[in-house]
Amino acid sequence: MRVLIAGAGVAAFEATLALRAAANERVDIELVAPETKFWYRPLAVAEPFGLGEVLTFDLAQLAAAAGAHFTPGEVIAVDAVAHVAHTAAGVELPYDVLLIATGASPRTAVAGALTFRGPADTELITKLLGELDGGEVRRVAVAVPSGAVWVLPGYELALLIAAYVTARRIENVEIVLVTPEEEPLQLFGSTASAAAKELLDERGITLHKGAHATEASDGQLLRLVPQAAIDVDRVVALPRLYGRPIDGIPQTRDGFIIVDEQSRVAGFRDVFAAGDVTSFPVKQGGIAAQQADAAAEAIAADLGALAQPRPFRPVLRGLLLTGGAPRYLRYEVGGGRGETSAVSLEPLWWPPAKIVGRHLAPFLAGLVGGGEPEPATAPPGAVPVEVELRPDDLARLGASAPPIAGEDTQDDLERRTVGEIMSSEVLVVAPEDTLGEVAGRMRERDIGSALVSDSGRLIGILTSRDLLRASAGRVHSSEARVRQWMTSEPISVVATTPLAAALELMTDHAIDHLPVVEGERPVGMVGARQVARAVAELARTHTSIGDQEGEKR
Ligand SMILES: Cc1cc2nc3c(=O)[nH]c(=O)nc-3n(C[C@H](O)[C@H](O)[C@H](O)COP(=O)(O)OP(=O)(O)OC[C@H]3O[C@@H](n4cnc5c(N)ncnc54)[C@H](O)[C@@H]3O)c2cc1C
Repeated sequence: MRVLIAGAGVAAFEATLALRAAANERVDIELVAPETKFWYRPLAVAEPFGLGEVLTFDLAQLAAAAGAHFTPGEVIAVDAVAHVAHTAAGVELPYDVLLIATGASPRTAVAGALTFRGPADTELITKLLGELDGGEVRRVAVAVPSGAVWVLPGYELALLIAAYVTARRIENVEIVLVTPEEEPLQLFGSTASAAAKELLDERGITLHKGAHATEASDGQLLRLVPQAAIDVDRVVALPRLYGRPIDGIPQTRDGFIIVDEQSRVAGFRDVFAAGDVTSFPVKQGGIAAQQADAAAEAIAADLGALAQPRPFRPVLRGLLLTGGAPRYLRYEVGGGRGETSAVSLEPLWWPPAKIVGRHLAPFLAGLVGGGEPEPATAPPGAVPVEVELRPDDLARLGASAPPIAGEDTQDDLERRTVGEIMSSEVLVVAPEDTLGEVAGRMRERDIGSALVSDSGRLIGILTSRDLLRASAGRVHSSEARVRQWMTSEPISVVATTPLAAALELMTDHAIDHLPVVEGERPVGMVGARQVARAVAELARTHTSIGDQEGEKR
């Protein structure tokens, strides 16, 4: 069986190794990614402080060592019916099973701040440390934005900057941590929260919790919601994360992919997704690896190589760098396998340290250390945390999806596409049109929704429900504009999206209309009624076939 993995990061390698372990001979694995290197990113936080270097591996070599082939390329579209992935360079990659592990794209969340995305931005922190040394900077804010974020590095940066300042005896410096969380490191549970709070207090870091940093004017005044603003000399912010668009795969407004507890993409039989690209709300390497393990076991079970695939039961494990452990942090790492062997003395990332992957962590440790890793304990000054996320939480967060139809009907729904039933006669309006104009055109055509497009790009949807809301709010329909009442950046699908996936998106998000796009251009609409009719027809077909077969018997 040909398994194509889009991506070559944490989830991709964990899945490769797990597949090799569970179904070795039966799978041919190909990884495709636009980069040529695997970056071990957690150490990017430590690098500017001279406490470690980002570990990198050549992807072709790493893939070969894991038992896979590596093809450079960026997957931009998937034709799930033909089982082909398309790359930006126009290459077609056929697959039997596809695993999407393309990670997340970090974008600036706090305008005007220094955004720390990882290895690419270590120089920003080095520069900041120089400014602290030179006395040019006295107040530094580290901002954790709301939404999908890698939260740990924010705390680590604040703690490490504070430790740096203390170690260098730089006087009169204030470090502020701004976070929308109700408690520090809330996600990791109360024990971790308490430990983080104690550490922040110990280091004299001022905590603004429940606060959303919005922008840093001139890099100096950090605006907060609901509090007003704080005066600082520099703001370092974490980025907000988004999924990268892949045509043919339904994605949430922020580009994330909805999967079930086996990491199967909602509505697709042979497409899985794992890691930061999924809509699971926690973005973390350990979680990415656990999702990859669940996908690998489901694929192995489909092949008959495994009886009981284990579902994704998320356990968050992390290790917080605090700047208080020189022994822990003293090691030599660099690019390539050969250069990194010294890390085995006290490897920061050794299992069960920074990124916890059942297969990946020992694999990397084996490569650089040349043998089986020793069980590691958390070093002094580092705070290990572990918290089990209950299945209820998972369901509440929308990460699992219920089956939607009988088995035969479900098969058909996976084969048939949105393009077969969508309506191409859509009403496309402009954001500046008035509600009155649009309501009139909707009435004329007897339709319940309009797509909002700006310069050819779908930017919103306006439904009769929005018009009702507006009229209940007593707005003047000749004055109110579409942009004020539409749903921005709606979930959309493409014509090749299987009906099963469309139906699941509608059910999960309680929506009645799914815009259909080609690139970013609106080309059609599929409504709940059309999908329901298609399901009913398919169910009827299967019932009558079943009846005929029954009569024959
Ligand atoms: C500074 C920093 C510190 C962190 N610290 C920790 C930590 O201590 N512990 C922890 O568990 N996690 C940590 N993380 C988070 C962790 O790195 C990520 O959660 C993890 O890498 C996610 O794994 P992934 O496989 O989903 O994505 P990634 O590891 O990001 O891999 C994505 C892969 O997809 C490829 N790709 C992208 N687009 C495409 C495309 N269109 N087609 C094909 N391939 C594509 C990329 O080139 C890459 O190979 C940290 C992150 C940062 C930035």
